[in-house]
Amino acid sequence: MTTRTVNNVIQSIATSDGAGVKLRRSLGQTRGLYHDPFLMLDEFSSENPGDYIAGFPAHPHRGFETVTYLLDGHMLHEDHLGNRGDLKSGGVQWMTAGRGIIHSEMPQQLEGRMRGFQLWINLPAAEKMKPAGYRDIDAAEIPVAALAGGGTVKVIAGEVDLGGTVTAGPIQGLTTDPLYLDVELPAGASLSLPVKSGHNAYVYPYEGSVAIGTEGQARVLERGHGGMLSDGDRIELQAGAQGTRALVLAAKPLREPVVQYGPFVMNTREEIEQTLRDYQNGAFAGAAEARASDGR
Ligand code: FE
Repeated sequence: MTTRTVNNVIQSIATSDGAGVKLRRSLGQTRGLYHDPFLMLDEFSSENPGDYIAGFPAHPHRGFETVTYLLDGHMLHEDHLGNRGDLKSGGVQWMTAGRGIIHSEMPQQLEGRMRGFQLWINLPAAEKMKPAGYRDIDAAEIPVAALAGGGTVKVIAGEVDLGGTVTAGPIQGLTTDPLYLDVELPAGASLSLPVKSGHNAYVYPYEGSVAIGTEGQARVLERGHGGMLSDGDRIELQAGAQGTRALVLAAKPLREPVVQYGPFVMNTREEIEQTLRDYQNGAFAGAAEARASDGR
């Protein structure tokens, strides 16, 4: 049994995206700062509608998946293929951009708190041009395991074995085999999480701090500081004095070249140039045929 340790700490930075949505970017804040296959992790949290109300008007994506997890708020998603999804508190939208999507992600509330995350997960070369697809997952479909020592583990993707009881999330069977957990631990509580060896893991505390590693050798991640972990088959977490809420992510690395141009992530410059031509020529609209043949 090998316990993972923190190799690298990434402090999230304040930035804005879309039509001026204020957010904190963790992975993806500078070129090349990703943890294969995780390309980007944004946290948005505000009580002030001025920080989020303009949303993310129509914009394209190609070559990866976006996972939006809303803790609080209400977001409407629409795309050029006619898909529409209504994301509410506690829900997740898992979108496979594949060969192309043009969509908008717009807050539907005029007041109150908007809080959540968007994660970008890369697609393998062989799947970058597959038809776009969606899963809209209601909060009720996401299992929550209660921990013996207090706290909970919400399983959005993959599965986790907690003391012999396996909890499986609604997202399964992807090539990168992602694990996406939202862990809540009361002050001082600890959790030993099995994770697959060889998968890259990232822990992002968004409330309180969390210590990662075995006692005596643990490293503390403060709120908003993501930890890239070493390899191993277990993550040991211990909540700080305020308790913690943290995302725990793990997935199989693709080990393929990553060439990103804004919302397009391909393997070569040529593919990016082709993507820009396709977008300018309106070829993204051609993805509609794929939608029909995909039975969506
Ligand atoms: Fe988007």
